[in-house]
Amino acid sequence: MDWKNLGFGYVKTDYRYVSNYKDGKWDEGILTTDEKVVLNESAGVLQYAQTCFEGLKAYKTVDGRVVCFRPDLNAQRMIQSAQRLEMPPFPAERFLEAVKSVVKKNIESVPPYGSGASLYIRPYMFGTNPVMGVKPADEYQFRIFVSPVGPYFKGGAKPITLRIPDFDRAAPLGTGHVKAGLNYAMSLHAIVDAHKQGYNENMYLDSATRTKIEETGGANIIFVTKDNKVVTPKSSTILPSITRRSLMYVAQKYLGLEVEERIIYKEELNEMKECALCGTAAVLSPVGKVNDHGKEIVFPSGMEKAGEITQKLYDTLTGIQLGRIEAPEGWIMEIK
Ligand SMILES: *Cc1c(COP(=O)(O)O)cnc(C)c1O
Repeated sequence: MDWKNLGFGYVKTDYRYVSNYKDGKWDEGILTTDEKVVLNESAGVLQYAQTCFEGLKAYKTVDGRVVCFRPDLNAQRMIQSAQRLEMPPFPAERFLEAVKSVVKKNIESVPPYGSGASLYIRPYMFGTNPVMGVKPADEYQFRIFVSPVGPYFKGGAKPITLRIPDFDRAAPLGTGHVKAGLNYAMSLHAIVDAHKQGYNENMYLDSATRTKIEETGGANIIFVTKDNKVVTPKSSTILPSITRRSLMYVAQKYLGLEVEERIIYKEELNEMKECALCGTAAVLSPVGKVNDHGKEIVFPSGMEKAGEITQKLYDTLTGIQLGRIEAPEGWIMEIK
């Protein structure tokens, strides 16, 4: 395997985990080599998009262990997503056991330390039995597959450009706070359009007033203010990113910075020193500029490299994930 040149794409690995829900309960689950899912033509997921997912990674550490980063938070978040979509939650302890077993069974696919690559883990769940009228399915499948991945943005630490789109991501009382496939389906047109116009991603505003900054299609946003405070938007329609919550902790406890989760108005973009996207896939991606309908906001950190604090946050968080820096209690689950 050419670990250093891996992109962010699906690579088939040997084993995946499957558990089925029927007659009100989850079965014991199996590991299988069969990557195919065969469904009835009227399955709930196909008709009404009844599906949610998670994303986390396994890393090879500097001392040769294989670890996952805060998987308990993915288990919890998937329960919340399932509940919002009227799906039966997959129990958190079973989620963690399933993650462990599927990583262990594909241990040869965990990229080596120092390659910059990692093993992406994708748990997901969907309605399987036929539905016609609009109602939740009665039967579900929970699966986890893994795939070795390289960096999400090919440019690595090169700053990216966002635009403020004329599309909304999440309604005030909608599903923006859960990891539902439907949130991504409706963002595809906006991202294709952004790419056509030469931007890497969309910076969504709150749909009620279109004055406050929310997030991008698949990553939360953090800013550094001119007085070195790390700030992130507070909103009930943002997906609660585990990376973002971890970075805010790292900023405060490891770097001694002031942090704040608060409403951030679009008008404040001019006053920010640094900006970055955060999520499991990209970890932390520096943003160089934002285009707001032709008006360009260039952050002082510029388009050449990540801002100083963004870089420190990135180094500290990846240091914790790769075992170079001591992790807070409970952040690392070893696979053994
Ligand atoms: C998954 C996701 C994120 C990132 O969350 P992490 O837990 O950090 O991976 C951010 N925004 C959206 C919309 C997401 O779906």
